[in-house]
Amino acid sequence: MPKSLNDSVQFIKSVGPKRAESFSKIGINVVNDLLFYFPSKYLDRSTIVNTLNLVRYVSNGFEGEVTIVGDVVDVEYIRYGKKQIFKVSFKDKTGRFECVWFQGIRFFKDRFKVGDTYALSGKPVITRYGHIQIAHPDFDKLTENESEEFFNTGKVIPFYKVPKELKNQNIGDFSLRKIINNVVTNYYELLDESLPEYLIQKYDYQNLSTSVYNLHYPSNKEIFENSLNRFKYEELFYFELLIALKRSQIKEDKNGISFTISDEVIDKFIDSLPFQLTNAQLKVINEIKSDMQDQSPMNRLIQGDVGSGKTIVCLIAILIAIKNGYQAALMVPTEILANQHYLTISKLLSESGIKISLLIGSNKSKKKKEIIESIKNHEVDLVIGTHAIIQDNIEFSKLGLVVIDEQHRFGVSQRMQLISKSITPDIIVTTATPIPRTLSMTVYGDLDISIIDEMPKNRKPTKTYLRNEEALPKIYKYIVDESKKGNQTFIIYPLVEDSEKITLKSAETYYNDLKDSFFKSINVGMIHGKMKWEEKDQIMLDFANKKHDVLISTTVIEVGIDIPNANIIVINDASRFGLSQLHQLRGRVGRGNKQATCILVSDLTNNKSITNVKESFQYLSSQEIEKNKAIIRLNSMAEHTSGFDLSEIDLKLRGPGDIFGTKQIGFPEFKHADIVNDYDILSNAKADAFNIINDDPLLTKQINNIIKEQVTKKYEYKLTYLNTP
Ligand code: ADP
Ligand code: MG
Repeated sequence: MPKSLNDSVQFIKSVGPKRAESFSKIGINVVNDLLFYFPSKYLDRSTIVNTLNLVRYVSNGFEGEVTIVGDVVDVEYIRYGKKQIFKVSFKDKTGRFECVWFQGIRFFKDRFKVGDTYALSGKPVITRYGHIQIAHPDFDKLTENESEEFFNTGKVIPFYKVPKELKNQNIGDFSLRKIINNVVTNYYELLDESLPEYLIQKYDYQNLSTSVYNLHYPSNKEIFENSLNRFKYEELFYFELLIALKRSQIKEDKNGISFTISDEVIDKFIDSLPFQLTNAQLKVINEIKSDMQDQSPMNRLIQGDVGSGKTIVCLIAILIAIKNGYQAALMVPTEILANQHYLTISKLLSESGIKISLLIGSNKSKKKKEIIESIKNHEVDLVIGTHAIIQDNIEFSKLGLVVIDEQHRFGVSQRMQLISKSITPDIIVTTATPIPRTLSMTVYGDLDISIIDEMPKNRKPTKTYLRNEEALPKIYKYIVDESKKGNQTFIIYPLVEDSEKITLKSAETYYNDLKDSFFKSINVGMIHGKMKWEEKDQIMLDFANKKHDVLISTTVIEVGIDIPNANIIVINDASRFGLSQLHQLRGRVGRGNKQATCILVSDLTNNKSITNVKESFQYLSSQEIEKNKAIIRLNSMAEHTSGFDLSEIDLKLRGPGDIFGTKQIGFPEFKHADIVNDYDILSNAKADAFNIINDDPLLTKQINNIIKEQVTKKYEYKLTYLNTP
């Protein structure tokens, strides 16, 4: 029978049915799977040393791995009580050395015969008797006629991760290396190409089979990198290709609404604002106008740091839609935020005759019914609400625009749900999450991106201080003094009520303590997520109307809340919060023209050793970073005010998989590529994919045959990921 990539691994030498079963548990069934089981690292054993040199190296403090060749001169089996040691002594032309085993002795015991020649690799030490010793070396037996036959030693060796499923079947890195070697040498040439020739040539990559071989057995660093880059490129290319396909479908879609833009109406509205729009806001408004005029549906992400003024920009889009006789929906992540938007927008549009409703989960059912009915009958032009807007029973009469505020708070599926409500409304999503450009390109690959990269002119950067808990009395006094000057303060605590298990501070306890002690002479309010909706509403309103000087709060105020007069925020147990959360919380102040202050209180003393966080990443080891994460976060907050800078730091602290909560928005995972460090490859892959789809949208051209085949065969299931608007 001819060899095939679909041959079961069971029939590979030294596998068999039992071991095949354990391979199957880790998703390896056929030969093809093993070909793509790449080394997790490589061991460089290419330098062979002799005993004399080795003594010199080790005495000089050398700590790495070496390979040494010698003849067996003695084999000993030593027993100390329960401990056993297996010791083999070797000699080469310059001296003697020994190797020892403490485990698996049964397996090694009968291997070494006096007179045999071995190559051995491992970490040498000098024993207290002055002997060179290597514990648990990897080794190759060298025979006279093939004394160059190195497999485990003497060159660069692939090292494969051995999952516990394989270990259970007595497969160690030794045997796995053998099994994979068998498969690679016998089968790699059967692999069919998966990228078109013209792309391989463009980047000087090798074909698939050579690249697979080289990734198992790279003969030098350049070859290794070239092969690895091919795999990175390939997965990024097909990912971007799917996005490009999706995008071309959207652009082809002429079922969108072509809105008529009345500059007069917009300009009049802009003139009525109590401030001048920033150039960045105006730029984004223009991008939105041109999208809305177009017959294809708009899919636009507005990215802008906390306080950059995204609401007003969205409001202009809403105005355009409604002036064209359509309805608009504004969806936000929390009820407090929904209510705030409702109040500010109602005020801003009070002259316009536009009818606005607030739809939230905690509406009384009778009231809710009325609202739902009026949405259906187009008695409402703008609906502002939480995810209640996307419930099944909500039907719009003529939905033309959907704005999703703080989109990173919603999952992908929610974004989808709302979209399917109507044929093809225009869509704007906003986020304050300053995703580094590499990430936004992947996460939001299917959206056009507008960036508000400028703060309103009246803003002064918030001053941030790190303080110990001992400083609290002083902080309270400062707050009281500031209250008397008309300034307002948020004090944030991590929990609502004290719980026995966790000793984090709770808003409730501190509210009760503080209002009758330190804050006796001022007005204190409290808000938390467990309160009834009306209560929360009233407290926010009171705070906005300056009835309270201080608002004690949990993180319910984290996103979007806009009370420009509040200019002090104190965050307790600050080390417990993530960087994005701290940035969002701090973003609640510094939204007006007063100088704002943020005080981060933490039991971690201010670790002065890690200042200048960005620079420190260059010399800190990953263990040091891991150990000091919390203090690095706090110092980052003190050193940086830009969300963009903070997101880069966050990325370094967390790794790309979890940046700023991207997990929850369905961030794609790659096997080879690291989208942070492989930005150049990603850019190339994206450009190629979009050019190809632009030129050959249905992939009917001969030269794109391979692409078409791959897309239908291998990547189709992934299209579900892209089933977003
Ligand atoms: P975010 O981008 O965080 O959603 P908002 O849209 O809530 O920010 O705006 C923050 C505050 O800044 C609001 O009080 C808003 O009225 C005000 N604002 C928006 N644009 C400007 C501007 N160009 N100049 C001054 N203040 C502005
Ligand atoms: Mg906002």
